[in-house]
Amino acid sequence: MSNRVNIIATKFEDISTSDRETTFGYRAFDDGGQVYCNTLTEEQASLPDLELLRLICSEDFLNDELSAMLQFTRDEKTGITINGNWHLWDEIKDIMFEEEGQDDGTVSVMFVSVWDGGTEIRTSGCYDPKTGRVESQKTSDAPVKVLDREYIEFLNGDEMDVCPVCHEYVLKTAMKEADGTNLEQVEVCSNPDCENSGA
Ligand SMILES: [Zn+2]
Repeated sequence: MSNRVNIIATKFEDISTSDRETTFGYRAFDDGGQVYCNTLTEEQASLPDLELLRLICSEDFLNDELSAMLQFTRDEKTGITINGNWHLWDEIKDIMFEEEGQDDGTVSVMFVSVWDGGTEIRTSGCYDPKTGRVESQKTSDAPVKVLDREYIEFLNGDEMDVCPVCHEYVLKTAMKEADGTNLEQVEVCSNPDCENSGA
């Protein structure tokens, strides 16, 4: 279990051509394979470790091979070696998390249902931060039991509760008048059309 990813900023130099063309980029490798990129500028290749990681995980530079390699890092929530320096998962998780973002602005999450007795059912889904809507591949043969809690779990471990009424939007905190004068914090549905929206 040492399939850890190494990324090394690299200067590439042709050795057989007369002009010895030089380019900059990185090499990345793990036990299963290797990938290189030589389309960075010298300044980009010289960035501090985590800024380099953020750059090569950005849309402009990310490729399928690197993405597949980093999937291990995400699955295991483990660190990465960059330029010989070990960086813990805690240091890189935000960058790995951004990389999970989809083109349409939604974010990959785990949809977790907790049924009575503590049985957890986890399915992958996505969350739209703009609307609060959650989509998941729910299992059709869910047990007919009492649902204790439903929530989504982000890659970085954060959790958000899902509306117990519509099961399709996350809950948000709102202020509601209680006893005529005092404001009270309540959890309501992000979906204005849900009967749990507090409207
Ligand atoms: Zn709702």
